[in-house]
Amino acid sequence: MMKQDKKYLLDSIRAIENFPKEGIVFRDITTLLNNKEAFSFLIDHLVEKYKNSNIDYIAGIESRGFIFGSALSAKLKLPFVPIRKPGKLPGKCLQEMYSLEYGQDVLEIHVDAFNNTKNARILLMDDLIATGGTAIAAVKLIQRLEANCIEACFLLNLKDLDGDKQLSQLTSVYSVLEV
Ligand code: AMP
Repeated sequence: MMKQDKKYLLDSIRAIENFPKEGIVFRDITTLLNNKEAFSFLIDHLVEKYKNSNIDYIAGIESRGFIFGSALSAKLKLPFVPIRKPGKLPGKCLQEMYSLEYGQDVLEIHVDAFNNTKNARILLMDDLIATGGTAIAAVKLIQRLEANCIEACFLLNLKDLDGDKQLSQLTSVYSVLEV
């Protein structure tokens, strides 16, 4: 993507200081979603990038990964798999714990999410990578189902936190924008 296109997309994302707590700059993608040109420009970019990647499933992380992941799934005519917070998925699940700044959280995936296909090629999607803990837990769930996470894709990488470096030990990492 060209520099001016990146600037256009980055300008469509609102930064809100001290949310959800003091010292955090929250990257609010609702302003990008609310901008029909910016949203479709982003999805078109991802369609071009991934249309020949032989992907079998797109997996999105709750909840903003659902928005971009399912929009891309529909365009690429690929099945979408939600990776959710605990207690939301009704079927039998695998769980993976990960660390937050304070305490721990869990992600879950349905055990039959990839229809028991061995080595299915999965693209993982979320809006943003910070420390990488969330995405690492999601990749581990994909791998425990004997699928192959071919890439983790983000709209935004907070690169000072080095989450992309941690995650790249498990899978290839792509982010459209970096701050
Ligand atoms: P992490 O596990 O630290 O990589 O955090 C990634 C998850 O937290 C993603 O699902 C993001 O949506 C969310 N997140 C973390 N930091 C921010 C931020 N500064 N602005 C918006 N969302 C964030």
